[in-house]
Amino acid sequence: MKETKEFKTETKKLLDMMINSIYTHKEIFLRELVSNASDAIDKRHYLSLTNTSIAASDYEIKVEADKNLKILTITDNGVGMTKEELEEHLGTIAKSGSKEFLEKISKENAPDVDVIGQFGVGFYSAFMVASKVKVLTKSVNSDKAYLFESEGLDSYTIEEAEKDDFGTVITLFLREDTEDEKYSEFLDEYEIKSLIKKYSDYIRYPIKTWVTKYDNDENDDKENKEPHTHLELETINSMLPIWKKNKNEVKPEELNEFYKNKFMDYQDPITSIHLNVEGMITYSALLFIPRKPFYDFYADRNEKGLQLYTKGVFILDKCKELIPDYLRFVKGLVDSADLPLNISREMLQEDRAIKKIASNVEKKILSELSNLLKNDRDKYLEFFKDYGLNLKYGLYENMGMKKDELKDLIILRSFNEDKLVSFAEYVEKMAEGQKDIYYAVAENKEMASRLPQMDLLVKKGYDCLILSDDVDEFMIQVLKEYDGKSFKSINKDDLNLIDEEESKKIDELKETKKDLLTEVKESITGVKDVVLSKRLVDAPCCVSAEGEISFEMEKVLKAQNHEVKAERVFELNPNHPIFARIEDAFKNDKDYAKKLVNILYNQALLQEGILPDDPKSFSMDITELLLK
Ligand code: ADP
Repeated sequence: MKETKEFKTETKKLLDMMINSIYTHKEIFLRELVSNASDAIDKRHYLSLTNTSIAASDYEIKVEADKNLKILTITDNGVGMTKEELEEHLGTIAKSGSKEFLEKISKENAPDVDVIGQFGVGFYSAFMVASKVKVLTKSVNSDKAYLFESEGLDSYTIEEAEKDDFGTVITLFLREDTEDEKYSEFLDEYEIKSLIKKYSDYIRYPIKTWVTKYDNDENDDKENKEPHTHLELETINSMLPIWKKNKNEVKPEELNEFYKNKFMDYQDPITSIHLNVEGMITYSALLFIPRKPFYDFYADRNEKGLQLYTKGVFILDKCKELIPDYLRFVKGLVDSADLPLNISREMLQEDRAIKKIASNVEKKILSELSNLLKNDRDKYLEFFKDYGLNLKYGLYENMGMKKDELKDLIILRSFNEDKLVSFAEYVEKMAEGQKDIYYAVAENKEMASRLPQMDLLVKKGYDCLILSDDVDEFMIQVLKEYDGKSFKSINKDDLNLIDEEESKKIDELKETKKDLLTEVKESITGVKDVVLSKRLVDAPCCVSAEGEISFEMEKVLKAQNHEVKAERVFELNPNHPIFARIEDAFKNDKDYAKKLVNILYNQALLQEGILPDDPKSFSMDITELLLK
């Protein structure tokens, strides 16, 4: 029985776009269909490792043209699809990427067609060149075959059909040629061969097509007769995986092409690493850092991992054991001869070979990054802009387990130089007499310059690192020191930057003003201490945080719903006229004095970006003061 079903709205939109496509590279439909075929064979092969009854002796993909009927067929002996899978995979765009795909292309007038594959909507590209598509398929999990048929408009049909062997045959009924588009070219033997070579050369299964061969007929009268020919089914792709080649024989452009094809990116990677390792464990690996994080990089569904092959046979798409979390942006594959073909996911976690390979892969990536930082700064800056945060988290995670490996790959903005520098570069330029590494937690240089102690620091000629990412200060805390030098926060720590005489003066004053400071402290709720500040120049007062938690950390943690409070210390500038006013008020009008110090305290909190505990009485106090 033939069933007719409506495409879902999103699918319709996508199909409509394919059909009326303004793309120039319509030819990529073949790459997409061939790569689906290859994936299907991978899947069948993988399943056959545990279920030998579905193994095939020869896996292959055939591309055949019929010029008279204007049809092109792509045949594979892969897993095939059940009726449900046909509906799920071809009838709807179940893929989460499709929505983003539609959004992206609707924003661009002439989108790069290469993005199609990245979004997992490759099958539909068939409708760019075909007015009708038939999919005849038999799944290894079903004893019935089914035929899917659609003209790419509103609906499709599915019916039971006849097919002996497992796999899928996709038939494309090509569109009529127009003035601009010669669809019939896709039936041309030479064209088919060159498209396979161009896009699918590394596919590991033979891709065959019919090729004209000249008969070697001695009796032919060469002058008058057309040469005799016949057709032979020939394998077009070279199949030798690029990673198996000796690394010196692979040109960088070839690696880039391979990457783009395999991982469906349209830009060259920032960097590629090719490893051929022989020894206790023998393996090859290809590792790439994409120029831009993939569209789903930040989505929860994005799983990290490298593709895993054993002796050239595909095993797993995302082997997460091969790459640490903080390098999750790395794409690539590992092929080892030292793993069993039927390795299970559980075994992977324990496997010593995998662990060894993973640790080597990690080392190689870090050394390549360090190399970039030293020798190709611009590229490293480009890298760090998109992926720096990952390295910072990597350093912070697991109690800083990886800090030694990562600390020299971190770059932060220098206040004096206004560019990103490494800790080593900071230390190298430290002024004479400077013992510590100074940092300011601030959004940017402008904000950092407003911090109370910055004036003093600049006067001394000391540089300061500006920490603008949420994770930065946590990372610094884990790091504790660099090259024997401690980190000092100009937001939080007293840096002892004023000269000795001034410092002594304040210490003496502290004694005489002891009672006043106690009174101030008792007037403010929630304050840990009230002190005379040694770090204020122009400002009347400030709040600082004592202990491990800074105000910036308090904010970050609060945003994550942790109720953690920095310990507040209220610092008064004894040289500011307001100080005398406070002193006066506590002598003459205690009620007014309390309001005054509370307003000052809350203002200081606001300057740190922290809301007063009781905003209502804060504003009432101000109003009252304004009326005075
Ligand atoms: P993607 O291949 O990126 O997942 P496609 O739109 O190209 O997206 O294909 C959708 C799904 O249809 C595939 O994931 C696969 O499950 C199924 N499929 C497509 N072609 C074949 C095929 N030749 N054999 C088996 N399944 C296929």
